[in-house]
Amino acid sequence: MFHTIAGFDRIGEENAFAVLARATDLAAQGREIINLGIGQPDFRTPDHIVEAAVKALRDGHHGYTPANGIKPLREAVAADIHKRLDVEVSPDRVIIVPGGKVTMFAAILMFGEPGADILYPDPGFPIYRSMIEFTGARPVPIPIREENGFAFSAEETLALITQQTRLMILNSPANPTGGVTPKSEIDRLVAGLADWPDVTILSDEIYGQMTYDGLPHVSLMTYPAIRDRVILLDGWSKTYAMTGWRLGYSVWPDALYESVRKLAVNGWSCVSAATQFAGIAALEGPQDSVTKMLGEFDKRRAIVVEELNRLPGFSCITPTGAFYAFPNISKTGYKAKDLATRLLEEVGVATIGGPDFGILGEGYLRVSYANSAENIEKAIGRMGDFLDRN
Ligand code: PLP
Repeated sequence: MFHTIAGFDRIGEENAFAVLARATDLAAQGREIINLGIGQPDFRTPDHIVEAAVKALRDGHHGYTPANGIKPLREAVAADIHKRLDVEVSPDRVIIVPGGKVTMFAAILMFGEPGADILYPDPGFPIYRSMIEFTGARPVPIPIREENGFAFSAEETLALITQQTRLMILNSPANPTGGVTPKSEIDRLVAGLADWPDVTILSDEIYGQMTYDGLPHVSLMTYPAIRDRVILLDGWSKTYAMTGWRLGYSVWPDALYESVRKLAVNGWSCVSAATQFAGIAALEGPQDSVTKMLGEFDKRRAIVVEELNRLPGFSCITPTGAFYAFPNISKTGYKAKDLATRLLEEVGVATIGGPDFGILGEGYLRVSYANSAENIEKAIGRMGDFLDRN
């Protein structure tokens, strides 16, 4: 009856939201659920950020803002990029968007169409592939392998580029693996990209401030040779525990900026004004809550890896970024999604099956450590009981 475009037959979603809904249902039935499926920090947004939003509302910031975001926020983003990455970016290339996801939505819409190839990490954030398929472009997976510490390989990635390749999506530190790609590999990738001047790069650096063991975050923005064709995706969701505020930003090449600004005018007008003031407070205020949260994640990372490695059939390398572990469960004899479902239904532990992040995710589970150390230990204990019994 409805003649919608074919893209809607192909659009996917994020199964993490379905798992969250099921976990919430089970909890409402009185089951005690421990959620290790969740992709958001279990911390509150720091008070000074909340206060800035409250003040903005009290001060009467109730209307539309410019579609690309208020200037003081775009300036604060440019200053933050300068401070953290030592890269000069004009605030006029920064756009404020309702969440990091909106940048991938915009970039993939801009480059995807039948006949175009878009490279994306597999396993990787599921929306990349979903949106690529929506546009009719061909999704070309970049394999992310455990034996490389879940870093991408420059050689393998470059070998996938063809004359049809329009966009390459990279993500380090990565969801769902917690992998961080080392600088030497990124250097090699950037060198190889010199042969492919028409390929645009979408660099998803939303976990850029979440690395461990003193490992530096290497931003694609720091390479002058490709800077004019990198779209930088970042935002406040993870770093400042602000997932529900819907606040992100991206930096675009000059030549694409008007297109994304117009997309904003057509799609969402602007981000809520008060939220944008909160964003300024986050970037310009004290950063001690970020350090504290990371310290806490670091402690839990050690626990999660140690405990997962005790489980029969599990082996888990130590992730170096984000807040996810990605244990190999192939020796348990279970298919990953079946195991995730049974763990949730039978012992009340939510995790996400690796195939929800791509074909190469089979044989893995995503275990988020955005939960208390106590809950992590209890949850993995329940997983152990389940595996012993079955
Ligand atoms: N990129 C990656 C790799 C993510 O894991 C996520 C969220 O989980 C996002 C982007 C989207 O972030 P936001 O909640 O700000 O839209």
